[in-house]
Amino acid sequence: MSQVLPATISPELFAQRADAIADAARELAAAGWTPATSSNFSMRLDDDHAAITISGRDKGRLGRDDIMLIDMHGKAVGTSARPSAETELHTQIYRRWPEMNVVLHTHSRTQSVASRLFARDGVVTLAGWELQKAIAGQTTHDSELAIPVFPNTQHMPELVAQVDAWLDSGRPLHAYLINGHGIYTWGRDMAETRRHLEALEFLLGCEMDLRSRSV
Ligand SMILES: [Zn+2]
Repeated sequence: MSQVLPATISPELFAQRADAIADAARELAAAGWTPATSSNFSMRLDDDHAAITISGRDKGRLGRDDIMLIDMHGKAVGTSARPSAETELHTQIYRRWPEMNVVLHTHSRTQSVASRLFARDGVVTLAGWELQKAIAGQTTHDSELAIPVFPNTQHMPELVAQVDAWLDSGRPLHAYLINGHGIYTWGRDMAETRRHLEALEFLLGCEMDLRSRSV
């Protein structure tokens, strides 16, 4: 599948972002967080474009040819490849936050079970955990970190609208779960976004453990 780049995007930049996505995907797949070709990953290239995983590829075996260019409305650019079905959720993040450059979405067992467990409340409220400080802007364990759980749907505009409604209400948002599905999180660079994803995986596991042991 050949990718034709607009003149404003250098082949070096695209290759560098594609490699960064493939490297992260390989490690997350090895952790078992991307079962059965699920999950999707993207990185911003400029104000108008992002690189994203092509739909249906094994996330443990991605190469440059498995990454494609999209515009900020989720449309393929310079390729006939099909982007991930959930591409609009990535471009929504880039459009709302010009400072965000990476979006990671995974389907780990912990994320999937937590999403079901906390769907009743529509939110997981994390409080008192030291690792909350791994999330950008969180400076103390002595605060509340709310991770909403949105109902799953195959109709992306509905999910986009739910995320918009949360943000438009003025509440902070660092990540969200989709019921029975997985997690989305983002950051300014790959290292920050990986840190968010790993911290949230750990915190969701701790929170479920704690609640199962509490009466
Ligand atoms: Zn998904």
